[in-house]
Amino acid sequence: MISKDLLDILACPLCKGDLKLEGAKLHCANPSCGCRYAIVDDIPDMLIEEAERPCPKCSAQRKWEPENDALACEKCGERFAWQRSGAKAK
Ligand SMILES: [Zn+2]
Ligand SMILES: [Zn+2]
Repeated sequence: MISKDLLDILACPLCKGDLKLEGAKLHCANPSCGCRYAIVDDIPDMLIEEAERPCPKCSAQRKWEPENDALACEKCGERFAWQRSGAKAK
């Protein structure tokens, strides 16, 4: 079980949004991100590569593009870029 203290300091690695514990997974509260992170042996797996990345429009799994720091849906074309705090868009 993940403690509330740990949950309070955890943030989505992609959008820095709040995470909510739902079932056995951490769900990102940002609706345009919406990634879900598995918890393995009480340790959240915060790797974007391994997260579930459902598209908010069509719920297909989005592809993680590390070269662009973005999630891309190959089905409907929806894109979501990593929100680097303080960084300007390229
Ligand atoms: Zn997120
Ligand atoms: Zn989509």
